Order: sequence, then structure tokens, then C-alpha cells
Amino acid sequence: MDKKNITERLVKTKYLLESMIGIIIIITIISTYVLVRFNQVSNTVLSLSNQLNSLENKFASTTSDLRTNINKNHDALTTAINQEQQNVGNIEQKLGNYSQQVGDVSNTVSTLQKLSKTDPELLIKYSKVFFLNENYAPSRLSEIPEQYKYSNTKILKINSQVLPYLQRMIEDAKNANNLLYVYSAFRSFNEQKSLKGQYSIVYGSGSANSFSADQGYSEHQLGTTIDFITPGLGGNLDGFDTTESYKWLLNNAYRYGYILSYPKNNKFYVFEPWHWRFIGIKLATDLHNQGKSFYDMDQRDIDEYLVSVFD
Ligand SMILES: [Zn+2]
Repeated sequence: MDKKNITERLVKTKYLLESMIGIIIIITIISTYVLVRFNQVSNTVLSLSNQLNSLENKFASTTSDLRTNINKNHDALTTAINQEQQNVGNIEQKLGNYSQQVGDVSNTVSTLQKLSKTDPELLIKYSKVFFLNENYAPSRLSEIPEQYKYSNTKILKINSQVLPYLQRMIEDAKNANNLLYVYSAFRSFNEQKSLKGQYSIVYGSGSANSFSADQGYSEHQLGTTIDFITPGLGGNLDGFDTTESYKWLLNNAYRYGYILSYPKNNKFYVFEPWHWRFIGIKLATDLHNQGKSFYDMDQRDIDEYLVSVFD
């Protein structure tokens, strides 16, 4: 082999070696770069994955927060609705109370109207202790029809509102075979005064006091009170308590609002079985049921019945 060839070969080999080294360097550089990039990408992916997890967690937490909020709001809304319903209920109840009050007021008004039309004297006790003003007269009087009077010689009058009660009582007594006739009815203050004068002359003032009320003390001035008589007594009041008519009155008069003012052993006058006063069905019935007499009752308790005197 010649020198030239050897040199050429050496040069070729050197060139080959250099080329190979260059290629290896290039490959190493590329590999390193690829490795580094891969690491970078891998890190990025990891970071992204972490971020995704975190986002997922956040989302889950937000969802749960939202749900909690929705639940809270729902509860608050339900409470508010319940509160409102309760308010409406309260308002309804208040309205109910108001309408009740309005009803009460209108009842009170009608009671007052009734009372304003009712003579307060009708249920006052008149006796030696309590007396009626001499100027008092009933606001309306009616004549008692002839068939109910014992004698037709004089006009007899009665409080117009009481007349129907009296008529019913006399008619019902008659249907039960007990005859009742009106002997005496309304007497004015002056009539009572002159009657008392007559009694005093005939019997003497001591005895007249015990059976004929002084003027102003007489229930006859009220126009609601009647003296009854029945046939068989010779036109006298005395002995009336022995008759069937009297017994009928004792058992039934209260149904028509009448009471015996001065029963046996009363503290006010002698026993007057013929003398009956109208006080209204309710009070008369209560007295009858309790076995009490009008004059033994407290005036304040009696006054409670004024509103119902013509019921
Ligand atoms: Zn009388």
C-alpha cells in the first residue's frame, strides 16, 4: 500500500469519525431536548390535572353550597309563608272579634232603644217606703173593654201595652171556668187622694192606712195594676182569697206577667188577694219559680228585667 492511499484512508476515517461524533452529539442534543420537553410537558399535564381536580373540588363545594343555600332559602321562604298565614289568621280573628264587637254594640244599641221606650217606673217598688211623683201618669192608657169590667158605670183605663196581657189572662181564666172581672184599674194621684179621703171617713184613718195606699204610694197610679172581683162575693173584694179564681191566679198569673203585690204576711200592706200588678212575664216567672215576692227583691235586681218587661 502506498503512502498516499494510507493518507487518503486516514483522512476518510477521520472524516467518518468526525461525522459520527457530530451525529452522536446531535442525537444527544436532540435526546436531551426531547427529554427536557417531555419533562416539561409532563409537569404541565400534572399541573393541569391538579388544577382540574381543584376545579372539580371547587365545583363540588360550590354545588353543595348552592344546595345548602337553596335549602336555607326554602326554609326561610316556608317560615315566611307560615308567618304570613299566621298573620292572615290573626287578621281574620281580629276581624271576627271586630264583627263580634260590632254585633255587641248593635245589641247594646237595640237594648238601649228598647229601654228608652220603656217606662222605668213600671218596675219600681211603690209602698210606704218608695213613692211615686204626684205628676206621674202613664204615657198611654187604653179603656178596658166592657166585657172585662165588673160594672159599666165608670170608665176603667190601663196602660195600653199591658192591656193585651190582661185580656189573655182573663180569657184563659174564663176558659178554665174561673171568672175574673176588673173592679179597679188605673187611678190618678188625685183619684187616689179622694179615694183615700173616703176610706178615712168611713173607716177612720188608722185602718184606712193599712189597706189603701196613700196617694203617691199606690201601684194603681202606674196603670199596670188591677183589682179583680168575681161573682158570688156580693160585689165585695173581701173573700176573694176563698175563690177558685184567686187560686187560678196564684197558679197562672205569672204566665201573663202578673204578680200578687201584697201576699199574706207581707211587710208593706195587709194581704190584698185581689190586687195584681203587671211586671212582665220573665220577672213574674222567675219570682214564681223561686217562691219570692216582688217587694222582697232588691230594686237593682228588679231593674235588670226592665228591658224584657214586654217580651
Ligand atoms: Zn189595688
